[in-house]
Amino acid sequence: MTGQELTAPSVIGIRPTERDLAAALPVPEKVRLLSGADSWRTHEYLPIGLRAMVTSDGPNGVRGPTKDEHHPSACLPCPSALGATWDADLVHQVAAALGAEARSKAVDVLLAPTVNLMRTPLGGRGFEFFAEDPVLTASLAAAYVRGVQSAGVAATVKHFVANDSETQRWTYDVRLTEGVLRELYLVPFEACVREAGAWLVMAAYNKVNGTAMTENVRLLRDVLKNEWGFDGVVTSDWHAARSTHATALATLDLSMPGPDGPWGELLVQAFDAGQVTEDLLNDKVARLLRLARRVGALTEPTVARGAGHDGMANGAAPAVATAGGTAASGGRAAVLVDAGLLRCAAAESFVLLRNSGGALPLNPGGIATVAVVGPNSVSPVIQGGGSAGVSPVSVAVPVDSVRAALPAHVTVTSSAGCQTWHAVPEPPPGSLTDPVTGAAGLRLEFTDASGAVIGAEHRESANLAWWDGVPDGIGWGKPGRIVLTTTFHPAVTGSHLLSVSGVGGLLLEADGVPVIDDVTAVPDDPVEAMTRPGELRAALWLEADVPARLRVEFAPAADGAGPLAVRLGIAPASDDDDLLAAAERAAAAADAAIVVVGSAELTESEGFDRPTLALPGRQDELVSRVAAVNRATIVVVNSGMPVLMPWGEQVAAILHAWLPGQEFGTALVDVLFGRAEPGGRLPVTIPVAETDSPVLHATPTAAGVLGYPEGLLIGYRGYDAAGLAPRYPFGHGLGYTTWEYQSVDCPAWLSEGSNLELSVHVRNTGRRKGKEVIQVYLAEPGAPANRGRPVRALAAFAAVRAAPGESVRVRLTVPARSFARYDESLASWITPGGEFTVHVGRSSRDLRLAARVRLSA
Ligand code: BGC
Repeated sequence: MTGQELTAPSVIGIRPTERDLAAALPVPEKVRLLSGADSWRTHEYLPIGLRAMVTSDGPNGVRGPTKDEHHPSACLPCPSALGATWDADLVHQVAAALGAEARSKAVDVLLAPTVNLMRTPLGGRGFEFFAEDPVLTASLAAAYVRGVQSAGVAATVKHFVANDSETQRWTYDVRLTEGVLRELYLVPFEACVREAGAWLVMAAYNKVNGTAMTENVRLLRDVLKNEWGFDGVVTSDWHAARSTHATALATLDLSMPGPDGPWGELLVQAFDAGQVTEDLLNDKVARLLRLARRVGALTEPTVARGAGHDGMANGAAPAVATAGGTAASGGRAAVLVDAGLLRCAAAESFVLLRNSGGALPLNPGGIATVAVVGPNSVSPVIQGGGSAGVSPVSVAVPVDSVRAALPAHVTVTSSAGCQTWHAVPEPPPGSLTDPVTGAAGLRLEFTDASGAVIGAEHRESANLAWWDGVPDGIGWGKPGRIVLTTTFHPAVTGSHLLSVSGVGGLLLEADGVPVIDDVTAVPDDPVEAMTRPGELRAALWLEADVPARLRVEFAPAADGAGPLAVRLGIAPASDDDDLLAAAERAAAAADAAIVVVGSAELTESEGFDRPTLALPGRQDELVSRVAAVNRATIVVVNSGMPVLMPWGEQVAAILHAWLPGQEFGTALVDVLFGRAEPGGRLPVTIPVAETDSPVLHATPTAAGVLGYPEGLLIGYRGYDAAGLAPRYPFGHGLGYTTWEYQSVDCPAWLSEGSNLELSVHVRNTGRRKGKEVIQVYLAEPGAPANRGRPVRALAAFAAVRAAPGESVRVRLTVPARSFARYDESLASWITPGGEFTVHVGRSSRDLRLAARVRLSA
């Protein structure tokens, strides 16, 4: 079969189907297409007009194949923040803009959204999930998929399925019932596939009921493809395909990353041995080609007779630039998501948890001095860690934004209050100079085994990571070295902490003298080579304005894996007692204290779960001490997931700001000073005590088993079943106005299989226009006495806006599925007859209206 024969149908105007194209390819060619070409790209095959497709993480933004300051990205509010908007239209708008940014960066496949559930508040990746509830997650995730795909970019729904925590994520074996799978964990995937038409699904690392997800015939083939009719590509999570024919038979379609992996030649051998049929291979290739067609990567053939693999044989130029008109950005500027949209989305996600005496919004007219306090007021955490991370285009730092928002006669003081970092922070911008160019930053060199420089460039950031694109001879187990040289200009005299991080050998010289020379351990999870590689530290006395020449030499470990990363950290040594006392003094002298506390850089990340819900460092003490000296203490919580708030009753106001992306500061001042309303409602329950959480530590047994014994009772369902009062319930959020729930119109009867149409009247009884999130919870017949079943569950919601005094009528649809439960003995959904109670309210614990509806067969 030659390229010419394959192209023939299109020449006479009949577009060959993906199946025909796939079937016509020789087996080795089919197999080649089914593994990645590198970390992020698929293979191209120009004889059939197929160019490489580029994948990129999500979900904090769209990074592109390279993560560095030369390739910045818009940094979005994290998905738990988007979850807090409870606003599918807004999520669609943000996702469509994200799709456009991906397109402009020549990215075809975005590796987002993440639709696992917040089963435990300690989950390291909870910030990447939308909610603890499947209905809220499903609705927002479907909007996200539609938004991204409206830009011609594929969304990848991940991680299929039950990948809800990080501890031993590569291997754990989740044991759960079919009913729990169907009623909780599969729900968002099903919505993204069936309602939103997602083009990819990512098979997770973990096992479910004894079978690896990449080998799970029942869930991938029977449920996802056959039952739900998924016609897209199932890609493996990165390195999650760990067998040859078992993954192929389970209908995994694409093994990522490449170029190695368990398929390639081994899959050809499995075919030759009769373990895998050609039909099966054809189906995978056809799906890949369908994806290519969808994203514009499969066009009319551009290379005629005789072109070889990847268009490079017989000298043919890669035709990537012409295919679909979208493949190569070739110097085109990226179109980043609009900062105004991100600022608005962040404000819409902020949840006002408490507002005693109407402390917020602050009236700048009545303030002479504001103390801005807290580690996150000066070093905000705008995104979670892991593969989702992007190099942000800019960061609005809260204290700077507060300063900029207030008139000049208002004094704004700034104090960090305590230190929370786990790894020594990067040196502040402007404190480093590249010794070669003289520009701010450092000199990066790649050297070969003999020490000869084989590549060099100027870099601004001292935090570097690579997947591909390093010179030959550099990498895990290779002899080359990565060398950073820079001059550090200390701002203060005193002891400084210097650190170098990376997996392998690390040498740090200061003014030619080695101060660190050691080796770090190889982590179990390759992503940690980037997120939290081993760190080595040294203390050094430095004089203000006396520059120190620094040189870092990094030798990647022989048995390392994952992204290559190296990092330099420098911070003046400081004393928490002093920092706390300074913050307390500043707060005592101010009319209002804004205390920004929260996660540190490495608190929330892919690769590991949090050990505790407590705020890192001495932040609880900081809040209590500030609150004791200033009655107008406003606490802003900068974390992607719940934290404990032992000072909860001592402060005037609490605003949960999540990991809000690049516009943190600007959105914060909008909300603090009342230019915008805090529009968010909790997508996750905040407990009083850690042990109140229905599920806390998700630690597999020694045999790797991770039981889900709580069944359906995660999140608010667990609190309701146990009769426990959370600190702040799921769905809670105050806004700046008040609402009266006037009435609900609900039919008395509903026939089985029909949706329930409701209409709810609410009135804005406050003095400001505002947003209300109307929440409908459904209680089954017999509830709350049905063992293991939720007392009530979210069934519908709508975000509405109204002017002061205005009444609005809101229509809500409770889908027929909300009345059904999964019957394992029948292996199907059934609807119990009898009377359901429809609760309408402001949160899962603030129910204002009720109606009853009887289901008839
Ligand atoms: C993560 C995925 C991610 C992939 C590529 C994996 O470790 O689990 O969410 O898309 O890496 O970065």
